[in-house]
Amino acid sequence: MQTAEIRQRWLDFFAERGHTVVPSASLVSDDPSLLFTVAGMVPFVPYLTGVVPAPYPRATSVQKCIRTNDIEEVGKTPRHGTFFQMNGNFSFGDYFKEGAITAAWELLTTSEAEGGYGFDPKDLWVTVYEDDDEAREIWKRVAGLPDERIQGLGKDTNYWHTGQPGPAGPCSEIFFDRGPEYGIDGGPATDDDRYVEIWNLVFMQYLIADVKSKVDFTIVKELPKKNIDTGMGLERVAFIKQGVDNMYEIDQVRPVLDAAARLSGRRYGADHEDDVRMRVIADHIRSSLMLMSDGVTPSNEGRGYILRRLLRRSIRAMRLLGVEGPTFRELFAASRDAMKAAYPEVATSYTQIEQLALGEEATFLRTLTAGTAILDTAVAKTKADGAAELAGDTAFLLHDTYGFPIELTLEMAEEAGLAVDRPAFDTLMADQRSRAKADAKSKKKVLADLSVYSDFRARGETVFTGYTDLVTDSSVLG
Ligand code: ATP
Ligand code: MG
Ligand code: MG
Ligand code: MG
Repeated sequence: MQTAEIRQRWLDFFAERGHTVVPSASLVSDDPSLLFTVAGMVPFVPYLTGVVPAPYPRATSVQKCIRTNDIEEVGKTPRHGTFFQMNGNFSFGDYFKEGAITAAWELLTTSEAEGGYGFDPKDLWVTVYEDDDEAREIWKRVAGLPDERIQGLGKDTNYWHTGQPGPAGPCSEIFFDRGPEYGIDGGPATDDDRYVEIWNLVFMQYLIADVKSKVDFTIVKELPKKNIDTGMGLERVAFIKQGVDNMYEIDQVRPVLDAAARLSGRRYGADHEDDVRMRVIADHIRSSLMLMSDGVTPSNEGRGYILRRLLRRSIRAMRLLGVEGPTFRELFAASRDAMKAAYPEVATSYTQIEQLALGEEATFLRTLTAGTAILDTAVAKTKADGAAELAGDTAFLLHDTYGFPIELTLEMAEEAGLAVDRPAFDTLMADQRSRAKADAKSKKKVLADLSVYSDFRARGETVFTGYTDLVTDSSVLG
């Protein structure tokens, strides 16, 4: 089943059950406290918290998401993308636990011929919050799951809140068992490689306060209007349904992986390290494409910095695959072709995206070789000195002159078995920032001078005496 089909079945299923279909919001979230949209619920937060009355009692969406905190997992686990799509169904004070569980089970286990995803119930496991007897009872009744396939877990995994006083509640998650060749028997509580989490159901049930940590807070009261927020990983269901090993091999991603293999002349599946690199490239190129089509451009801070990091990480991964020259033209075109059916904007704004990507690639390729040589020398010297940490000024030089995001230096040092003197790097960065500030101030002065100069000139057809006049005018310099 193609990804587009899984997506459409989702939307049809929930639309038929009274949900308003809401298009994906941008990856750049409206919420200033969030760099990116990290979950399907993000655009619905005002309705879920009750700040704004929901315009509909039920909604469904397939939301584009970026999770930068998963970057280290990419390519190593089968299931973590920096970009992915979260299918969601939401109830704003309408149906609750029973409705959410019943719908999830029905969609997953209805046969493909009848519009469902056709999962075999014996491959599915669920977790519930350990004290949520209500959810456990519903699962038993609705799904006919035996007790041992419903695992009770603690607040660290099966409780949702934002970290702020507000709505909160237990979660119940659904997992797919990939079989004994992927790990030990024992359910999702013991093994998250064999048992892949596909769907999270959040039951917003309480108002909480005194939030001290993920697991330490006080329940104030039961909410008068309880909400449902669920998220199913589209790529996760896709890789299972497509019978492939991981999310980087699905129809929307695999063409980029194949392009990386072709360009490097290496075969996917021949070497574990190379495979991870190809998966990283496939993921990061797609994420970059999607970010740029939502208007993010590479820069040294905020969202643009994340994009830059993804792009530079891809370039380095290609280099580790033995390719020294540019590859973005082919890689981005492959990703565009795989994504444009679902997101036509990646094709319509492609000229601009490509230009940005190629520019970034050219810049980084110019400094990557030199920077890598500097790093290698510094690593060798550090080791010869018997030290365990790369000096902060090396990391700073790499950042400042060679455009190495600090995370890249950390990664490369770690591969060589070294840490980095991060506090020293941070101090150098802070010094640079205050120097830049001071610089900006003095530049302002120059601008002031120039504006006075142009005002002066605009006054009329006088012989220009501005320089001498101006420098004697202390108010201008002041
Ligand atoms: P995991 O434990 O596997 O990291 P999660 O518990 O962090 O997943 P949730 O926050 O519950 O994930 O998100 C809801 C659903 O979105 C998950 O059940 C999963 O199917 C999907 N999902 C989450 N993170 C990713 C990701 N990085 N790449 C692809 N799908 C994801
Ligand atoms: Mg996670
Ligand atoms: Mg999880
Ligand atoms: Mg989860």
